[in-house]
Amino acid sequence: MARLGHSFAAGAASALGHLAHGLVDVALPQTCAACGAWVAGSIGPVCPACHDEVCTASRLPQCPRCGRTLPRSAIHDDGCARCRAEPFWNVAGVVRVGRYTPALRSLLVGLKYHGHERNAGYLADRLAAELRDRGWLGELNALVPVPMHWLRRAQRPCDHARLLAGALARRLKLPVIRAARRMKHTPSQVRLGIRAARFENVKGCFGPARRYWPAWLRPVVAGKTVCIIDNLISTGATVHEVSKVLRKAGARRIYAAVVARPATPGDPPIAGFPDDGPLP
Ligand SMILES: [Zn+2]
Ligand SMILES: [Zn+2]
Repeated sequence: MARLGHSFAAGAASALGHLAHGLVDVALPQTCAACGAWVAGSIGPVCPACHDEVCTASRLPQCPRCGRTLPRSAIHDDGCARCRAEPFWNVAGVVRVGRYTPALRSLLVGLKYHGHERNAGYLADRLAAELRDRGWLGELNALVPVPMHWLRRAQRPCDHARLLAGALARRLKLPVIRAARRMKHTPSQVRLGIRAARFENVKGCFGPARRYWPAWLRPVVAGKTVCIIDNLISTGATVHEVSKVLRKAGARRIYAAVVARPATPGDPPIAGFPDDGPLP
């Protein structure tokens, strides 16, 4: 009976919370999660202009193998000239929401450094829409967020990749398996501009999760097709290292899904499209 009373009280409190939230939405305009402009009414976390920018970025053609935004003529079924020349590229395909546009940058900065969880929901909606366009979505057995080191987690308001993977998993009805662990606390990739330095920085820094736990308590990756989830891919160094761990654990096929794939030196500019900003 006590349990029943408790669940009734919790349900009533939740309903009141939703009602209060709804009243606040009606009474007060909200600010856009990307540009900060006031938005009348509750139409979502992002204003129409920022939403348009994100949708335009999504519609631009992307390489199915590395996720680079490129002219359609430069993209082939087995990748583009850039990723075909990159021997490290060991995931079967990458999907991204868009290039690193001002709106996507602002949403990622808000999530990563300020813990704005509503941004994860919006970005997961956009990423789910991109994934539904991919023939390989039906192959996926699980999502694997890029793990964060516990020291970095202590410095940040949230684990952004985990939040993003959770929000995406609810939309796609897929499980999240935390199959990899970050064993070394390394400087943020953002401060390392040179590609070789980024690869060196993350080399060997991931390992299997719960390595010393009994086998039946460890996440099962063997035989599964999985998708690595992160906020962005720049050089591909982090995804490459995580995929090595998953492959060693027996993953059948590995894909990656990220919010943004910034232009890298040598990528062609996109006419009429804002340049990528500095990495967060
Ligand atoms: Zn906006
Ligand atoms: Zn490519």
